[in-house]
Amino acid sequence: MSLTLWKDISPLGQRLREPTSRSPHILVIGGGVTGLISSWVLLDRGYHVTILSNAWASDEQRLTSQIAGALWEFPPAVCGQHTDAISLAHSKRWCMTAYHIWDGIAAIPALSDASGVRMMPSDFFFPETVENDPAQRSKMTEIMASGVRGFYRGSDLIDERGIDPEYGAVDAYELMAPIIDTDKSMHWLMDLVESKGAKFVTETITRDLVDIEDSLRARFDADVIVNCTGLQGEVLAGDDTVYPIRGGLIRVINDGTDFPKVDAALTITADAAGSANEIVFLVPRNDNILLIGGIAEPNEWDLNLTLESPIISRMRERCEKFLPGLKDARVDPDYPFAQGLRPFRGKNVRVERELRRTGSRIVHSYGQGGAGWSLSFGCAQDVSMLVDEALSGAPARPMGDIMTHDLKAGKSERRRR
Ligand SMILES: Cc1cc2nc3c(=O)[nH]c(=O)nc-3n(C[C@H](O)[C@H](O)[C@H](O)COP(=O)(O)OP(=O)(O)OC[C@H]3O[C@@H](n4cnc5c(N)ncnc54)[C@H](O)[C@@H]3O)c2cc1C
Repeated sequence: MSLTLWKDISPLGQRLREPTSRSPHILVIGGGVTGLISSWVLLDRGYHVTILSNAWASDEQRLTSQIAGALWEFPPAVCGQHTDAISLAHSKRWCMTAYHIWDGIAAIPALSDASGVRMMPSDFFFPETVENDPAQRSKMTEIMASGVRGFYRGSDLIDERGIDPEYGAVDAYELMAPIIDTDKSMHWLMDLVESKGAKFVTETITRDLVDIEDSLRARFDADVIVNCTGLQGEVLAGDDTVYPIRGGLIRVINDGTDFPKVDAALTITADAAGSANEIVFLVPRNDNILLIGGIAEPNEWDLNLTLESPIISRMRERCEKFLPGLKDARVDPDYPFAQGLRPFRGKNVRVERELRRTGSRIVHSYGQGGAGWSLSFGCAQDVSMLVDEALSGAPARPMGDIMTHDLKAGKSERRRR
């Protein structure tokens, strides 16, 4: 079952279901994309929602969710690190739920404009024929069967997009993908959840939620707590497997005057770029800005990179070699460089109830890594399912068990048919 736009969630200010005085009250912690979209789903289900966060989207101190390239990708993403098969299987389901909802939003011009969400061609280039790389071949086969729109395979994309043949790309495919102007979208999401009735509280939680669950629930009169604090899952969920993967993006003017306007996302996988952590990632942010990336530096916590840092200079040179027109690109004078920490986790994304305390009513959704926008609505759907489970008094199950159960249920369903 997949969350469906207009049926389960509505992108309009009114709720799909109005709460009553007896409707459950959910305390969502975190005002990034994960917290806001989880709140949106819960609001449309008719719950009361309070969002508590120590920071909100702004144009001064940007959240990780605003720094994101925010290109939708089928997992594992080009900067993705999936170490766990169960997590990867969840992510494939989550990303397709999100795909259809972003696609539905982008299809309505006024909504696309207000939310900063557009469907654009997203092209992936390869240093050898896809069939010669078993992992890429199976990923491409899955993408073709996934229900994404506009799939096209052909090395003619290399020439069509102006890519230097000397760079080494010999194969390519394309699909239509959601591309999101995150600053616009985060403000739109804030306004949307507010108009649906969410209350905002600015506060920092400094302790493991398990230790303060009762007092926090009592203070906010909350039936369930949802933890969407990204990297701070380390503290709030007592999870020492959480770690950052630092990323940086140069922002250049993409109005067609300095180089032919780039109107598709263009990426080349790590192996072709010559290093697992230094890739080519070009994503139009909006009508005027192109993002040039990317890098993936595990366990680097400091946001001290500049345009002059060697890894950023290399990133720019790499992208200029790939797409020679970029040599003439001008950086955005108002906001030339964005950097942030992707919230990764040892076994990858966690959407799971708290397991350390019997009867706990905490639901976690963190560790979305380099894919928080790609997985957004899918994770939020599972959050709402786990909230209902917690409210019903059902015991918490580890994520792996839920997947195994779902797969078994799917199998017996297929046998019956
Ligand atoms: C360079 C870069 C490129 C990326 N590219 C993409 C991409 O192309 N596609 C994609 O899908 N994703 C991409 N991402 C990843 C994406 O940004 C993240 O996965 C996503 O933003 C995670 O969202 P979040 O809401 O979980 O975390 P955050 O955005 O970090 O939000 C966490 C929230 O919790 C609050 N909070 C934290 N701690 C506390 C506390 N103790 N008390 C109260 N509140 C707290 C914060 O204030 C914040 O509001 C990229 C990230 C980076 C850095």
